[in-house]
Amino acid sequence: DIKITGIRKDFGATNVLKSIDLHVRKGEFLTLLGPSGCGKSTLLRLIAGFDVPTSGSIEIGGRDVTRLAPKEREIAMVFQSYALYPHMTARRNMSVPLEMQRLSFAQRLPGAALVSGKIRQIRKEIAVDVERVCEQLGLASLLDRKPAQLSGGQRQRVAVGRALVREPSVFLMDEPLSNLDAKLRNQLREELADLQRRTGITFVFVTHDQKEAMALSDRIALMQDGQVVQCGAPDEIYRVPNHVSVARFVGSV
Ligand code: ATP
Ligand code: MG
Repeated sequence: DIKITGIRKDFGATNVLKSIDLHVRKGEFLTLLGPSGCGKSTLLRLIAGFDVPTSGSIEIGGRDVTRLAPKEREIAMVFQSYALYPHMTARRNMSVPLEMQRLSFAQRLPGAALVSGKIRQIRKEIAVDVERVCEQLGLASLLDRKPAQLSGGQRQRVAVGRALVREPSVFLMDEPLSNLDAKLRNQLREELADLQRRTGITFVFVTHDQKEAMALSDRIALMQDGQVVQCGAPDEIYRVPNHVSVARFVGSV
């Protein structure tokens, strides 16, 4: 689970997040929903560790991670623009982060022969893990292509695969579907929901698309002006808005 307590974030003199308390349960799909500029990406980046809060704390799995670097948190993040390595195939794009994670220690071991044997074994394991994730995401036939030879939706799926293959316990996604057409968006949306059911990974998903939030979420945290104004199951938020701004926002579909 993720426990966010009293998070405030200022950029210079501008107060962007006011005082956010939010508890994301283990294995749930929670969506941060709200209008442009309300602070969704800022909050997600704090959870990921790309930035530190001005005050407040963040716990992941009972551990205070507020001041830990991203790689010290068991998270993976997918951004709106997918940031694949353009000169590498889909397969390499997915295996490189794993190699960095798993081979760094092997290179420090003594004994060249021992090391190269161990490295071969780790590379084999990585190949198996990449294949497995590709099966799940329907990427198997695209593995040898470079990003320029893939459609936007396929690239986005490779980016999801690259994040998943590291087996994170928390998966953070910032508008990952926003530059796809409606058909692909629906398809990837279903794949994400399916993935969450099968893996039990905790998802924190950012969108300003209410339909998307409704379709995917166990719970929605509705944000407005740097605050969470309501958090609950989708039907609850739509049936019983607890704040005039919530009613106005969910009424504006
Ligand atoms: P969108 O839906 O448009 O992506 P958002 O809810 O993700 O919006 P944020 O990116 O979190 O919004 O930004 C919240 C506010 O903080 C905005 O007013 C933005 O201009 C401001 N902001 C974000 N990053 C910085 C920064 N590094 N320096 C100064 N202001 C920033
Ligand atoms: Mg944003």
